[in-house]
Amino acid sequence: MTVTDATEAGALAAGIRSAGLKVTAQRLAVLQALADAPHATAERVLAAVRAGLPGTSLQAVYGVLTAFTAAGLVRRIEPAGSAALFERRVGDNHHHLVCTACGAVQDVECVVGEAPCLLPADAQGFAVQSAEVTFWGLCPSCRASS
Ligand SMILES: [Zn+2]
Ligand SMILES: [Zn+2]
Repeated sequence: MTVTDATEAGALAAGIRSAGLKVTAQRLAVLQALADAPHATAERVLAAVRAGLPGTSLQAVYGVLTAFTAAGLVRRIEPAGSAALFERRVGDNHHHLVCTACGAVQDVECVVGEAPCLLPADAQGFAVQSAEVTFWGLCPSCRASS
């Protein structure tokens, strides 16, 4: 293991601990998978985790992702027509660009930087806490091939 790997694993473990969870090899592997590939489905996380921990089940990965999401360590997004996607970038109220053809997902900064960055014309008495914006369109590679 290189020094960089050790440092990164240490940072991931610290993140898990600070969320009030016990650090396990499986939890570390799930967080590492999301560090390598943001906006991943549980299946994709499972494939990455299995590279190092072959006995891991999809159920176990779902369990870890659910615990991480509840602890605020991971954000879950679910664009229409897509399986739930998970990412480590939390708390910055960023939004997403989603390709209508291939499903590619990109982060876009929130212009305001804090939730809620937009409010309905009439909130009808709701105390609005957040707004999730999904921008739909064709990604550059789908534009190039269409
Ligand atoms: Zn595309
Ligand atoms: Zn994102």
